[in-house]
Amino acid sequence: MYFDYCATTPVSEEVIAAMQPFWRVDYGNPSSLHQYGRIAAENMEHARDQVAALIGAKAHEIIFTGGATEANNLALLGILQPWQPEGAHLITGSTEHHSVLHTAQFLEKVGCEVTYLPVDKDGLISPESVEQAIRANTRLISIMLVNNELGTVQPVAAIGKIAHRHGIPFHSDAVQGIGLLDVDSAGMGIDLLSLSAHKIYGPKGAGALMVRSDIKISNIFHGGSQENQLRPGTENVPAIIGLGKACELVSMHREHDSNKIAGLRKQLIENLRQHIPGLIVNGARGADLCPHVLSLTFPGCVAEMMQIRLSRQDVAISLGSACNSKEIAPSHVLLAIGLSPQEADATLRISLGRETTPQEISQLSEILPDVASACRI
Ligand code: PMP
Repeated sequence: MYFDYCATTPVSEEVIAAMQPFWRVDYGNPSSLHQYGRIAAENMEHARDQVAALIGAKAHEIIFTGGATEANNLALLGILQPWQPEGAHLITGSTEHHSVLHTAQFLEKVGCEVTYLPVDKDGLISPESVEQAIRANTRLISIMLVNNELGTVQPVAAIGKIAHRHGIPFHSDAVQGIGLLDVDSAGMGIDLLSLSAHKIYGPKGAGALMVRSDIKISNIFHGGSQENQLRPGTENVPAIIGLGKACELVSMHREHDSNKIAGLRKQLIENLRQHIPGLIVNGARGADLCPHVLSLTFPGCVAEMMQIRLSRQDVAISLGSACNSKEIAPSHVLLAIGLSPQEADATLRISLGRETTPQEISQLSEILPDVASACRI
């Protein structure tokens, strides 16, 4: 049973079918001027339309990348331009994904100033704290839409307003939000937005950075003129076609998926609360929550032991984010919301998706209490 949709999702059949012709039939290089190239280029432009439509952007504002890590790096480094001698300032959050945080730490090493805003116990950043952190040399504000360990939805529209009032570009890592929330990037004041195909039932290694037309950004890779020179290199056409199709399918399924998943999450919490004393649900509730993520602390238990036992019973869940699974330190996100290292070590992330069934929720509800009591120390 798969409960790790935040880490990645299965590629949907329709996406596989859409990608299929681009391996052996329409395999041209989109930069080639002959008909093979033209067919690839035309289809890639269709994918650009599909991505733009999902996030309220214009097609020419979409830069295809090799995933969201690359998009986040391009946004931060391309705007802050650490090779420029004068110091620049970045505002970001303490619970961002490592593809933002580690890039920010690199920027600090090369002379940029960075403010890491704290979050409250639900993982929320206050828009006021963003405004207070603004300096004369602030060049970018980067705050994620949905946290990948908690599901907390940041008040991006309010932050976007503040950024615009001060004339500062606003970037948002929207990877975990675009599959389930209505993301109107223009309405939310987002100038740069990162997304990834493999979190929305598309292929791995494909993503995009939306860059609003009036934003000045530099390339961080050098080479050909693909993607407005911002992402040189021959495009991964099949994966881009898959990303486009995945975005189109999100537009069709989002409302249904979101309601269904919210219902399953609620059911799971109710079931578990009956059998697991002291169970803590981390992160924001209600309107401030993206429903596919469930962060649970099992007081007195060792989450790592729980994960191993669950895995033996074919239950796939995660301790925190998959990208940090090789790190021994407790999750920076859980510490930032005020959990002690012991509580963080007693925390599991369960994430649901389009293919999660009520039967799976019932099965998990039966298995988890036994696993928790076996792993209590
Ligand atoms: N940001 C967030 C919030 C994520 O959850 C992830 C994936 N773990 C990424 C960025 C990185 O995406 P990708 O795997 O496409 O590089």
